[in-house]
Amino acid sequence: MDYDASTPRALATEAVHAGREDLAALGLHAPPLDLSTTYPSYDTRAEAARIDDFATTGARPDGPPVYARLDNPTTARFEDALARLEGTESAVAFASGMAALTAVLLARASLGLRHVVAVRPLYGCSDHLLTAGLLGTEVTWTDPAGVADAIRPDTGLVVVETPANPTLAEVDIAALAHSCGAVPLLVDNTFATPVLQQPVRHGARIVLHSATKYLGGHGDVLGGVVACDEEFARTLRQVRFATGGVLHPMAGYLLLRGLSTLPVRVRAASATAAELVRRLAADPRIARVHYPKVGGAMIAFEVYGDPHDVIAGVRLITPAVSLGSVDTLIQHPASISHRIVAEGDRRAAGVSDRLLRMSVGLEDVEDLWRDLTEALSAPSAGTARAEGGRVPEPRPAAR
Ligand SMILES: *Cc1c(COP(=O)(O)O)cnc(C)c1O
Repeated sequence: MDYDASTPRALATEAVHAGREDLAALGLHAPPLDLSTTYPSYDTRAEAARIDDFATTGARPDGPPVYARLDNPTTARFEDALARLEGTESAVAFASGMAALTAVLLARASLGLRHVVAVRPLYGCSDHLLTAGLLGTEVTWTDPAGVADAIRPDTGLVVVETPANPTLAEVDIAALAHSCGAVPLLVDNTFATPVLQQPVRHGARIVLHSATKYLGGHGDVLGGVVACDEEFARTLRQVRFATGGVLHPMAGYLLLRGLSTLPVRVRAASATAAELVRRLAADPRIARVHYPKVGGAMIAFEVYGDPHDVIAGVRLITPAVSLGSVDTLIQHPASISHRIVAEGDRRAAGVSDRLLRMSVGLEDVEDLWRDLTEALSAPSAGTARAEGGRVPEPRPAAR
């Protein structure tokens, strides 16, 4: 049965059914996994016409994809489902979140729009990609209030994360979209997920996800996806075809499967995160807790003691970079996720050397709290604030 867009369905329902509407008619329950790299065609003229059509329009081919770098039916299901959850016309999947950001930057630069305005903090490697100008782009860093003034005639994109990695700083998307005028606003929605926030409803034109995180949700898939209008999606598909950053169909399968539990996972982990935030905020060993208004399962906190000792002290919680998995992960942004950002830029963006970032999973809150509070009690980790004294920066991690 075809999907009838006139019947609105709740996000939890879409998460389970989007991208799967044709399965019953196919006599299937689970989506088929198509691992083909190529597709047979005895009609070369028709194949040539399909190649021409893709080259001129970037539209998804009708029928088989010709070659797997062009399209894949399993990945297409994930794209359709994610677009539905984000409330966009289309979505285009990539091999990773960084491949997705790369494709967006190349798509804009190909129009001669090589200047990017961006708000810190961003995920460390996104910051690095822009700062290093690896794709021939030039970046102007500013705060949300400075975006309108930073825009130039060759500005092709405004980039923001909200809540941001790793400080969980939030930006008013509607106000920022207004400041962007005709320049498309890209919101990296990896942390909030469409369960908590749909940026296009507030005026963003492009929504980016590291699908590696909550969309996959189990720490076993690397992927990225851009949700946007069909016009921009067509350009992205052409960039993807030419540059090759495609998502593997197995990853597309796992990401579609991940979406079905996304609302349940995000809501359950968010409730646990909110409770941990309450406890941390009342703990004398904690200097500051960061938790966004939008909620979510990411928390960040600054310790008075040595953050390296907290990381070394966890037993149940996994000391690892990345986030959005069913198990709780903790990491030290200044040493790991944001290591590649220059120290001065990192600190100016609010990423203190005392900051720890935790991705709260689906474990029981009491077990998590016991592990965390024991890790915080490690000899130097648990230092409480000295009377009226200044808090020294911790010793840096060795290079
Ligand atoms: C991890 C992450 C990325 C990069 O995604 P990969 O899938 O690791 O390439 C981009 N943005 C944010 C906010 C992230 O957390």
